[in-house]
Amino acid sequence: MTFRFDISARDGSARSGTIHTPRGDIRTPAFMPVGTAATVKAMMPESVRETGADILLGNTYHLMLRPTAERIAALGGLHRFMNWDRPILTDSGGFQVMSLASLRKLTEEGVRFASHIDGSRHMLSPERSMEIQRLLGSDIVMSFDECTPFPADEKVARASMELSMRWAARSRDAFGDRPGYALFGIQQGSVYRDQRAESAEKLRAIGFDGYAIGGLAVGEGQDLMFDVLDYAPGQLPDDKPRYLMGVGKPDDIVGAVQRGVDMFDCVLPSRSGRTGQGWTARGPVNLRNARHRDDPRPLEEGCPCPACRNYSRAYLHHVIKADEIIGSMLLTWHNLAYYQRLMQGLRDAIFAGTLDRFAASFHAMRAEGDIDPI
Ligand SMILES: [Zn+2]
Repeated sequence: MTFRFDISARDGSARSGTIHTPRGDIRTPAFMPVGTAATVKAMMPESVRETGADILLGNTYHLMLRPTAERIAALGGLHRFMNWDRPILTDSGGFQVMSLASLRKLTEEGVRFASHIDGSRHMLSPERSMEIQRLLGSDIVMSFDECTPFPADEKVARASMELSMRWAARSRDAFGDRPGYALFGIQQGSVYRDQRAESAEKLRAIGFDGYAIGGLAVGEGQDLMFDVLDYAPGQLPDDKPRYLMGVGKPDDIVGAVQRGVDMFDCVLPSRSGRTGQGWTARGPVNLRNARHRDDPRPLEEGCPCPACRNYSRAYLHHVIKADEIIGSMLLTWHNLAYYQRLMQGLRDAIFAGTLDRFAASFHAMRAEGDIDPI
């Protein structure tokens, strides 16, 4: 069986469909929980699946350093290693090597760097990134690129984009022909429309199974990100999945889906679950706040997750304040379930042709803010 994307409904620029892979279908628009070090922190993989996730994201940079891609391959690959038998997408390592590693040296060949864990020296290049992602057994492989920093003037952005396009061609060559596995190209070009168009053309000429919009959610703010998303998805092939990397907050996702994006990933729901923040239809709720101390109501009425079905805000407040592990477990579960329910709502609205109404109601609910204290 091969990798295939079917679009079954459209509403404005938005699309809903299915990415078929040998390891299972991915319903789009899709949100991918982040399993950085071969685990979605504080969650069992079967619980992640129960929230409605069809696919996870793994981080090449973290896994190549510890426990190493070679060790994971010897143990049967990442799916078996972490007990997740559904699709996995891995990033190329390019973004994290620039944000986490030290002693970086970027050349045409790739990036030499020292591990943030033990200082050991490594090299990431298009060829090495493809090799690592193949060893991991990733279903969707990302081409190796440089995430252009923000802000970047036109000259800097162009040089960075052109380097990424040369690396995209090398990634394509190194990936080779692997039926059932997909390689995605990554559009760069910062906030410059002509550079984004040129990047899309170069990627299209190389030919990929899907296309990511890179270099956003790097500090430009939502207004500027939406300005770029007003044209960037339309520059990419219509019949392939479009993936907005590292996004985002629920309102970022709703706006990006309206502009034609199909896939997302973000650490926000899992990370904020470990810091006492719960995401609800009425916006974020800080469970550390004393207003929840005596509140017997669930975090979110009607949410089917275990945190809301079986526990009160008062309990969540208590275990988070007491730094009990179950606090992170319950809030992460709720947040991932909230994100997946949001994606289901978006998919249903696209099918029904009511996405604008869905978005209006989404914004109206958030504007109301959290329920009044008891
Ligand atoms: Zn819940």
